[in-house]
Amino acid sequence: MAAELEAEVPAFDRGLLECSAEEIAAKWLQASELQKEVYQHLAYYVPKIYCRGPNPAPQREDMLAQHVLLGPMEWYLCGEDPAFGFPKLEQANKPSHLCGRVFKVGEPTYSCRDCAVDPTCVLCMECFLGSIHREHRYRMTTSGGGGFCDCGDTEAWKEGPYCQKHELNTSETAEEEDPLVHLPEDMVARAYNIFAITFKYAVDILTWEKENELPGLEMIEKNDTYYCMLFNDEVHTYEQVIYTLQKAVNCTQKEAIGFATTVDRDGRRSVRYGDFQYCDQAKSVIVRNTSRQTKPLKVQVMHSSIVAHQSFGLKLLTWLGSVIGYSDGLRRILCQVGLQEGPDGENSSLVDKLMLYDSKLWKGARNVYHQLFMSSLLMDLKYKKLFAIRFARNYRQLQRDYMEDDHERAVSVAALSVQLFTVPTLARMLITEENLMTTIIKTFMDHLRHRDIQGRFQFERYTALQAFKFRRVQSLILDLKYVLISKPTEWSEDLRHKFLEGFDAFLELLKCMQGMDPITRQVGQHIEMEPEWEAAFTLQMKLTLVISMMQDWCALDEKVLIEAYKKCLTVLMQCHSGFTDGEQPIVLSMCGHSVETIRYCVSQEKVSIHLPVSRLLAGLHVLLSKTEVAYKFPELLPLSELSPPMLIEHPLRCLVLCAQVHAGMWRRNGFSLVNQIYYYHNVKCRREMFDKDIVMLQTGVSMMDPNHFLMIMLSRFELYQIFSTPDYGKRFSTENTNKDVVQQNNTLIEEMLYLIIMIVGERFSPGIGQVNATDEIKREIIHQLSIRPMAHSELVKALPEDENRETGMESVIEEVACFKKPGLTGRGLYELKPECTKNFNLYFYHFSRAEQSKAEEAQRKLKRQNREDTALPPPALPPFCPLFASLINILQSDVMLCIMGTILQWAVEHNGYAWSESMLQRVLHLIGMALQEEKQHLENLSEENVVTFTFTQKISRPGEAPNNSPSILAMLETLQNAPHLEVHKDMIRWILKTFNTIKKLRESSSTSPVAETEGNVMEESSRDKDKAERKRKAEIARLRREKIMAQMSEMQRHFINENKELFQQTLEELDTSASGVHDNSPVISDAKLTALGPEQTRVAEHRQVVMCILCQEEQEVKVDSRAMVLAAFIQRSTVLSKNRNRIIPDPEKYDPLFMHPDLSCGTHTGSCGHIMHAHCWQRYFDAVQAKEQRRQQRLRVHTSYDVENGEFLCPLCECLSNTVIPLLPPPRVLFNRLDFSGQPNLSQWIKTISLQMKARYLLRDEDHSSNSSEKMDQLQLPEGFRPDYKPKNPYSESIKEMLTTFGTATYKVGLKVHPNEEDPRVPIMCWGSCAYTIQTIERILADEDKPLFGHLPCRQDDCLKSLTRFAAAHWTVSSLSAVQGHFCTLLASLVPNEKNENLPCILDIDMFHLLVSLVLSFPAIHCQDFSGVSLGTGDLHLFHLVTMAHIIQILLTSSTEENGMDQEDTSSEEEVAVLTLYKFLCQCTGSALKEVSSGWHLWRNLKAGIMPFLRCSALFFHYLNGVPAPSELQVNGANQFERLCSYLSLPNNLTCLFQENSEILNTLVESWCSSNEVKRYLEGKRHAISYARESNKLIDLPDDYSCLINQASNFSCPKSGGDKSRAPTLCLVCGTMLCSQSYCCQTELEGEDVGACTAHTYTCGSGVGIFLRVRECQVLFLAGKTKGCFYPPPYLDDYGETDQGLRRGNPLHLCKERFKKIQKLWQQHSITEEIGHAQEANQTLVGIDWQHL
Ligand SMILES: [Zn+2]
Ligand SMILES: [Zn+2]
Ligand SMILES: [Zn+2]
Ligand SMILES: [Zn+2]
Ligand SMILES: [Zn+2]
Ligand SMILES: [Zn+2]
Ligand SMILES: [Zn+2]
Repeated sequence: MAAELEAEVPAFDRGLLECSAEEIAAKWLQASELQKEVYQHLAYYVPKIYCRGPNPAPQREDMLAQHVLLGPMEWYLCGEDPAFGFPKLEQANKPSHLCGRVFKVGEPTYSCRDCAVDPTCVLCMECFLGSIHREHRYRMTTSGGGGFCDCGDTEAWKEGPYCQKHELNTSETAEEEDPLVHLPEDMVARAYNIFAITFKYAVDILTWEKENELPGLEMIEKNDTYYCMLFNDEVHTYEQVIYTLQKAVNCTQKEAIGFATTVDRDGRRSVRYGDFQYCDQAKSVIVRNTSRQTKPLKVQVMHSSIVAHQSFGLKLLTWLGSVIGYSDGLRRILCQVGLQEGPDGENSSLVDKLMLYDSKLWKGARNVYHQLFMSSLLMDLKYKKLFAIRFARNYRQLQRDYMEDDHERAVSVAALSVQLFTVPTLARMLITEENLMTTIIKTFMDHLRHRDIQGRFQFERYTALQAFKFRRVQSLILDLKYVLISKPTEWSEDLRHKFLEGFDAFLELLKCMQGMDPITRQVGQHIEMEPEWEAAFTLQMKLTLVISMMQDWCALDEKVLIEAYKKCLTVLMQCHSGFTDGEQPIVLSMCGHSVETIRYCVSQEKVSIHLPVSRLLAGLHVLLSKTEVAYKFPELLPLSELSPPMLIEHPLRCLVLCAQVHAGMWRRNGFSLVNQIYYYHNVKCRREMFDKDIVMLQTGVSMMDPNHFLMIMLSRFELYQIFSTPDYGKRFSTENTNKDVVQQNNTLIEEMLYLIIMIVGERFSPGIGQVNATDEIKREIIHQLSIRPMAHSELVKALPEDENRETGMESVIEEVACFKKPGLTGRGLYELKPECTKNFNLYFYHFSRAEQSKAEEAQRKLKRQNREDTALPPPALPPFCPLFASLINILQSDVMLCIMGTILQWAVEHNGYAWSESMLQRVLHLIGMALQEEKQHLENLSEENVVTFTFTQKISRPGEAPNNSPSILAMLETLQNAPHLEVHKDMIRWILKTFNTIKKLRESSSTSPVAETEGNVMEESSRDKDKAERKRKAEIARLRREKIMAQMSEMQRHFINENKELFQQTLEELDTSASGVHDNSPVISDAKLTALGPEQTRVAEHRQVVMCILCQEEQEVKVDSRAMVLAAFIQRSTVLSKNRNRIIPDPEKYDPLFMHPDLSCGTHTGSCGHIMHAHCWQRYFDAVQAKEQRRQQRLRVHTSYDVENGEFLCPLCECLSNTVIPLLPPPRVLFNRLDFSGQPNLSQWIKTISLQMKARYLLRDEDHSSNSSEKMDQLQLPEGFRPDYKPKNPYSESIKEMLTTFGTATYKVGLKVHPNEEDPRVPIMCWGSCAYTIQTIERILADEDKPLFGHLPCRQDDCLKSLTRFAAAHWTVSSLSAVQGHFCTLLASLVPNEKNENLPCILDIDMFHLLVSLVLSFPAIHCQDFSGVSLGTGDLHLFHLVTMAHIIQILLTSSTEENGMDQEDTSSEEEVAVLTLYKFLCQCTGSALKEVSSGWHLWRNLKAGIMPFLRCSALFFHYLNGVPAPSELQVNGANQFERLCSYLSLPNNLTCLFQENSEILNTLVESWCSSNEVKRYLEGKRHAISYARESNKLIDLPDDYSCLINQASNFSCPKSGGDKSRAPTLCLVCGTMLCSQSYCCQTELEGEDVGACTAHTYTCGSGVGIFLRVRECQVLFLAGKTKGCFYPPPYLDDYGETDQGLRRGNPLHLCKERFKKIQKLWQQHSITEEIGHAQEANQTLVGIDWQHL
């Protein structure tokens, strides 16, 4: 060990290594003054170990510190070698039953929704998997770091507090046992000594503030070196810091990034080392540079000794943390040391000192000591309590410090509150003993000092700093929530007392909010500045849960409730003092009733939305009813002091305000008011705002004469005049009054009626109506689902959550809804059960206006579908609780009847705009409600009860003099036949029917039942009439629909564009069937179909007429006409790659002639299949380009496509494209001189070709050197070969141009070079793209198990056809000699000649690429051959030759293991032949090949290996020559191999090829095998691809998403030494985990900084990448540097929903189908297209800096 170290450690360290820990410890054991001794040791050694240079050397420092500093301490502590001492301790330890694992950032945590006491109780993954909660409803989140596992904490879990592992420890340990008894006494003493000294040392040095002195230590070294230390703040950005550092300390950008990263992570970093001046200089530059905008960065010049001791101080704290891990006894000693009061009394313990210094410490130091606290104080139940007391006593100070500090809460000691306050016993103890509730609330109030003259909070003119502090102070509300989260099961007198004291403080807080942010209606001018309103609402929102929890607490104890109610009432009266001052009361009278009220107009005076005191009282009032305290102890309640008019006044004003805003009376007050009204009703606030205002009105009505209430209400709505003055309405409508005012009043009347409906109808809160909590939640769900079916998360969002983040939905959802599973897209949905629709209330008070009208429409539609009438009558309601029972009389009060009568009268008179249908609808609803009520009363009638609810009688009575108006019933009967009220007919009919039912009920209860009344018969006949009427209307509607449909089809294209996803599938299906009809219908009987060669089936090519999508003109595809083109997209691809590490070194010099069989980088061409004229496309592209240039100048924003790179969107489908492919007729026909007589066989043909090639070489050489004329003489030109012949190009100019355009584009993209149409590599790239694209399609078809032909979508079929024909025609626009040259080189790889050496051996050539290139370059030679050999013969020979080479390739690389698989006894002809061939190969390779005796295995392998090649070839020749595919190849079935061979003009027994041509083949095979590379391979010295190549898939993903989270949390950034990555991102192609979106892992790519993902795409996916952002649970698609989009992840929760951002935390599982869909996108090369569509649909995606991900 020592020897190893010596080599690494520099000389001056050697002295340090000679220190003996044992000896030092021995000395310490003898010492009389241990502290002095230890301090001397530290003073001498610490500066020798730490801070020896500009950069920290953590490994060296740690090693030396362990040896010289910590070693002696461990020896001292153990009294022996710690290597023995610690394990002994560990063994003797009775381990804790607490897990206490401290979470890393990003680690998965689990909370059980069934058993956790509150949502902050979490388990680590290990504990969770071993717990019972695995089977419960759980929630999964990722930790933000800090916090620890609560396994074993009995207070955290209602059930199953231990996992299997921690359960083991519980049986042995008695709860209260003192862990010290397990330790020897002398060890206790020693531990006490050393802990006291080291802990104190660490605390002193960390909290040290002097510059040239040390606490109790001598400065030994006086060499005066300093550090310029830069500290973290949350004000400056990364960029600012990096920029400043480069200037100040003259470092590179890389170094600056390093510094900034460390500062951000650790909180400080030295940026310069040297003498004082040198460091000070840097400091002033930094300060100067950063002070301009904001406060300057914190920089300090520090003496290196101080920094050294501080570094060691932190090390010591970490060491203490690990030492106490060995024994609970040691832990207890450390706790004792830490909490022991120092000499300065209160707050002088080491723990206090650290806490109180927290905000001055840097981040790294804070983290270290917080961790120590967590592993010591919080893990020892006795000391946790003592610590909690210290924490509570320091609470005010800690919060003050936190407020001044600018660091996040997670790194503040204040954040420990969650660990203490959420423990129920601790919370209760802190409330009773430390008065914590009051402390928190008062501290909170201390920080909100801004008040108006009435003492209310004022947030107007808030400065940025105040706003910042306001955000921080909100964490106090969270603390209050923690304290209240677990409710007491029993109350002590103390607890009551302290809770009520806290309640007092809380009321003080609410009092400051009552009436805050008052507003006055703006008339005339619009407001100049939107007033600040968000702060007040934030406060309200944050307090909502606390207010609810306060009520929950009150509900638990009758005494507390009574006291709280009294206190609340007193405060409310204080708030309202002066409420009737000044003004004379006014008297209102109607229908013989009169009431006094104040003069007040919402539209003219101040009004506020914030009334928390009133609302709290309303809540408590309901509790009086719910707990029955109101009936049990009425004498204790101040009910007589209640003044109903006072109670309702403010809530009513607030509701009137909403109505007036809705009526448009407050338009000039701007958006802030609209927003406030929105939040007032919003699910986040309404529980303690809107809902409680309704309750308060219900309370009011139940306590006063409803006539009085209604009159006051009319007055507040400013409608009193209208209803109290007879004929007011009439006059109003006839006179030519201001339309706006009429409209306004109409809306106000509607709103007021709606409010009455709510007051009467909303009784689903326990305490108001006779219901329980589940009835309430059921009703909410029913109404949400009445709008439309909803996903789980949508429902959750629409329902209020309690303090445990629960809505209570799961318990009832099954009763009211059915779940429908999701398909491949979309989400699972809940649908309302049909029987629940009867509970639907159109005027449900939580509907927004939009929701209400949607629900109405949906429900009416449903009824029509069920062939029911469309009335939506009010549902039957539960009865009120006794305390509220009397409010029902409002429905039959005189004023109410008067209002109803008036409005019906208006409807009957039906003139002008003085009434509205909505008004009538609401009145009908109210009448309906009254009837329902009366019916229920009658049905539940018991003997002795008298029915006091006599609505039916009252509405049958006509009006009294002087108006003599008809009765309400009479008016309804009139309206029933009014033609203008068609929509309401069903409802009126329902009312009349119900009226009759009630009449019958009444009669039956008094007299005997009566038979059918005449009314019913009447009804029936009128129903028939109705039916006919409806039928007529339906017919009209149908005609109108048809007309609209006609117009629609015009707009359809647009619509399809907008709903692409929906249509894509259906379109593809249509396309497939279409293409099946056109291309593949065989003309000639199948058996004879041959795709190539002299025997090729001749097919008359159909005239192909196509239409240009741009000009809509049709044109035939012909050689000499204007070019037609397909929009196409070319991209590089690694989808088929078998080697992702291969990188093309220098694209300018790269020779792509031969494709390696690893297919590491290909060029893929795709198309959307849309056809244009070439010139139309050019015009279009020019226009796009010009537009884009203008746009860029103006807006400087990117688009989803890069015009400069030739990109554009297909004008029809907006598919991303970057070039066009010309459409061509089959090109072979043009060059085929048909002559079938005496075609040469393969050997002869090769000979001829070789001669032709030789001649060509000689001629070429001659061009360059003149002295070779004699060689010409040697050469006999082969017969008919005319090397001087220049073929005529048959294509039109326009087609030629497009051939060049597409060729150049392929070259540019494929090689990533600048376009150069002259480059000889252009044709190679074209052939390559054709081959590669066919290969990808073949793979997709094979993977999906689809037949080769007839199943490609039309767009792919068209694309392959055009691509193949283009590639075949491209030589006509290239240099003839270049193409000839390529052909010669290609052929030479199989038929060697002396001119071409160093060609790749056959193991290193992809044979299909070779085939395509050979066949497509061959015409360049053949066109000069006039000997009568047909082009087809050449094609066939080339194909046979390559096929044979491929067979040899397969046999050489096949790794047949002769397993004992069944084989047939008789060897077939094929098997014998292949065995013979194999033996010949053995011979050629010098017996290096493995012995194989089974022809059966060989033949099987050969067939399987060659299949993909044959399939690709069949596709290739099919598209090249246009021969239809035999029908057997259009279905899956047996004999596919034989069918392929026949189509391709191959013998079924492939090895026959060798026998037929043995003359030349033996030589060739020998030459192939003689290559050095083949030898090296057979000797096992190199690798080669074997066949068939397996298809690439995306990586396997685990079923449970938390596995991925865990994997990611264990992943650390590869560049910053073990640090956790912030955005771990998984490459789904190769499985690499990357550190994304972070400075640490940025690299330079083509001169630009890019993030880890973008960099990875360039190696792994040649620019295209598919990633999973693990912490976001989101798929990321990237293409190039500027394009990207997010895509839904393949993980779903049980409700069939994804959880992007992991916000909901439901367990997620892999959805295989969705993952397959992503894989398919990848295999089809559609990622870029997908990104394009996403970016077009969502412009914000364009703005994201994708390259930095
Ligand atoms: Zn755990
Ligand atoms: Zn556990
Ligand atoms: Zn559980
Ligand atoms: Zn056109
Ligand atoms: Zn298109
Ligand atoms: Zn990868
Ligand atoms: Zn990194």
